[in-house]
Amino acid sequence: MIEHVRAVLRMHQIGIVNLLSPRRLLRAAGQNARLGPQAALIMKAAAEHPDAPAVTDESGTLTYRELDEQSNALAHALKGLGLPDRSVVGVLARDHRGLVLAISGTARATLRLALMNTGLAKKQFAEVVAREKVRAVLYDSEFADLVDGLPDDIPRYLTWGSGSPSIFELIAAHPVTPLPLPDRPGGFIILTSGTTGLPKGAPRTKVSPLASALIADRIPFPRQGAAVFASPLFHSTGFGAWTVGLSLANHAVLLRRFDPEDILRAMAEHRAQMLVAVPTMLTRILALGPEIISKYDTSSLRSVFVAGAALAPELTKRFHETFGEVIYNVYGSTEVAVASVAQPDESRRAPGTVGRPPVTVHVALYDSDDRRITEAGVPGRVFVRTGIPFEGYTDGRHKQVIDGHMATGDLGHFDAEGLLFIDGRDDDMVISGGENVYPVEVENLLAERDDVLEVAVIGVDDPEFGQRLRAYVVPTEASTRDPQVIKDYVKASLSRFKVPRDVVFLDALPRNPTGKVLRRELP
Ligand code: AMP
Repeated sequence: MIEHVRAVLRMHQIGIVNLLSPRRLLRAAGQNARLGPQAALIMKAAAEHPDAPAVTDESGTLTYRELDEQSNALAHALKGLGLPDRSVVGVLARDHRGLVLAISGTARATLRLALMNTGLAKKQFAEVVAREKVRAVLYDSEFADLVDGLPDDIPRYLTWGSGSPSIFELIAAHPVTPLPLPDRPGGFIILTSGTTGLPKGAPRTKVSPLASALIADRIPFPRQGAAVFASPLFHSTGFGAWTVGLSLANHAVLLRRFDPEDILRAMAEHRAQMLVAVPTMLTRILALGPEIISKYDTSSLRSVFVAGAALAPELTKRFHETFGEVIYNVYGSTEVAVASVAQPDESRRAPGTVGRPPVTVHVALYDSDDRRITEAGVPGRVFVRTGIPFEGYTDGRHKQVIDGHMATGDLGHFDAEGLLFIDGRDDDMVISGGENVYPVEVENLLAERDDVLEVAVIGVDDPEFGQRLRAYVVPTEASTRDPQVIKDYVKASLSRFKVPRDVVFLDALPRNPTGKVLRRELP
């Protein structure tokens, strides 16, 4: 309870709630309870800052008033489809106003939104549509082929690209008047990354706006300022950061495709104070080199919200040297939301840390017998307790829970200061010659080399050692591509059993749109 009071005071301090106007606060809380956070926050921002820019994409900018009105029009149109309340609507879209309108419009129409991963193959998409019982689809024209394969009785509307019928035609043909509020939110389903199989559906219906805003406890968010989104909004990183931004009436600058120079251009043009990205995007931005980077004035940048995959300490260091100390390394998952954040000074003191949990979130480590680990330096399975309830996967499975803490599937440890480190996924751990090896340790070491752009290390079967390490290296132009140089480098710093026995040079690592390496697609 005391903790919740602390959280509310903190949110007041940050500007997410205003305790000095309780009437507005109650109205906003009521709207949130009935609509869910995104649609409710857009309504609130439209009432308080109608002319502030809400979203910019390739087609221009929508103010909060325009976004609010168009969301209403879309909601009227979707209601007209006659689907029962809380039916699932799937959206398969890149980052642009069409996706934002889909999120806000479905909530106002009391529908449940499934955010589809744009990396899905046709067959996977069809499987997810069937599993989640999707009754209507909103999609970008570039995914027409995926949508073509669906049963004819599923209505479909374009969210981007020329063609018909589109949500913009629906919006133009319907009134912008507000709809009656639902009695409870339709909710939404976010897919996990699915690096090991078909992405699982992680549904959420009730989200306390406080719980989702907590990350702002540890990351400076702009207040009515601009944030550039390089991470896709369909994934929890982009979705979470965008939602918190709505509570501060921020301006979301969206790009349909990631291009490192376009990101710099957008940051300079909109005087962005925040960038939301996955780690590999930072690598690509730095790879542009000083000449191109210096063409853009990014001095407005205060924070880079990085999440979704491990961030090599060397990458943080190099980014800080170029752009100042702005990196906030966010650790979390679709299921537990935000678990912890490393602030720039923590990353400087303890390279590689994922920091500490925000107010009201708790991280605990348990051993294989479910006993709590509290000592520094002892690795264990990472569990997280948070106010954002995850309701179990849509296929009925659930994560292990101990004392209200949910398993993340990761292994980690605390240092003496209490800072958390992630050692890797439970199932990525390699046992070579009877020794446990966390590939991320070897990856982080190799990332320090000037001739290594990116690296992934995995375990492969070995008749003698059970498993052995294989490193996949994306070399820079300076590299001699000599496997021995790579092996010697590891040998000089780490134990013998951590030295990769094979080194494979690749032009790029196979990654999904959320930045995770697709280990099963490595040759
Ligand atoms: P997802 O549910 O797709 O967001 O995947 C969550 C998983 O990504 C976590 O359980 C971690 O394995 C990994 N992950 C996310 N953020 C970080 C981070 N900052 N550092 C290390 N691993 C991360």
